[in-house]
Amino acid sequence: MERHIIHCDLDTFFVSVERLRNDKLKGKPILIGGSSDRGVVASCSYEARQFGVHSAMPMKLALRLCPQAIVVKGDHDMYSKYSNVVTEIIEEKAPLVEKSSIDEHYLDISGMDKFFGCWKWSQELRQRIIKETGLPISFGLSINKTVSKIATGTAKPCGERKVDFGTEKGFLAPLSIRKIPMIGDKTYTILRNMGVSKILTLQQMEVFTMQRVLGESGVSIWKKANALDTTPVVPFREQKSMSKETTYQQDTINIDILRATMLSMVDELCFDMRREGKLTGCITLKIRYSNFDTHTMQIKVPYTSSERVISGKVLELFNKLYSRRMLIRLIGVKFSHLITGNYQTDLFNDTLEDLNLAHALDRIRMRFGATSIVRGFSGKDYQVEDHVAKCP
Ligand SMILES: [Mg+2]
Repeated sequence: MERHIIHCDLDTFFVSVERLRNDKLKGKPILIGGSSDRGVVASCSYEARQFGVHSAMPMKLALRLCPQAIVVKGDHDMYSKYSNVVTEIIEEKAPLVEKSSIDEHYLDISGMDKFFGCWKWSQELRQRIIKETGLPISFGLSINKTVSKIATGTAKPCGERKVDFGTEKGFLAPLSIRKIPMIGDKTYTILRNMGVSKILTLQQMEVFTMQRVLGESGVSIWKKANALDTTPVVPFREQKSMSKETTYQQDTINIDILRATMLSMVDELCFDMRREGKLTGCITLKIRYSNFDTHTMQIKVPYTSSERVISGKVLELFNKLYSRRMLIRLIGVKFSHLITGNYQTDLFNDTLEDLNLAHALDRIRMRFGATSIVRGFSGKDYQVEDHVAKCP
């Protein structure tokens, strides 16, 4: 069956939110990020991009390229709030929604063409989001996720694009291979060295050649280039969450041990999240008492993968949840509402040194295992179990 998949992406999302709050920022080059000159650019406006500024660039360099830029310290809570408002508007209208990052969604509206035209429906939804939130957003509509995402990219800023059934390969052919979401710097270099620069060339190649050069990811890139992408749109409730649980060999009320357990589980989960390029929007704490009474409590958080932020939230949950002076048998932490994103820590507060330190720690963990660095406590009297579970 022919599918109808929308990809939508808020334009320069952080900048747009700041402009909602401050009219004076409109039409000006804006840099969002740590305001000290050792900070990093988390996001920038189109006006700043014209000067060669891009995200993840040191703030100092960005200001050298574009000295007239206005620097705004980001507000993560505010961005998450606006992001969730957009998600709510979309979820109210669309049957199947995947939030793929803080400013991107995929919608599967297959079958709706029988009742409404899919294109008209998308345009109306887009106008509604713009009207209700004041945020500019771009849309792409096609038969699969990859083509729609690329279509959105060609529609930006603040545009919409439909790729008609049967015209997908022709639409992709003249574009740079860079446009395929999977192709990063390394793969790009390999393909460029083979003389491949346009998607058309990938379409003309044998899939075996791609497999020989790039393995399984080569096959997947070849399929995407040929508009063959069957990846489904997966809503939060059906997505995998990440969790860890610790069962004590001896039930405990020792707050130091409980605290250390929670922090070490948070450290490991945060590392796993960053390795997979994910951020969480919802944290759940579970406590099982010695009489097997089990209590859970969850809290929504601004999207993050920072152990500093998440530890604070987990301890806050613990203080609320643990009201009975009873021995604890098991404690668990779960991250759900996972979206793609990679602000490693808090980009708006961290300096380049903080980020480099965090990267270095993750590199050590990558080499020697997630538990190679722990926070000043290593208990031997409990076991940690991994769980990959479905969200309830
Ligand atoms: Mg965006």
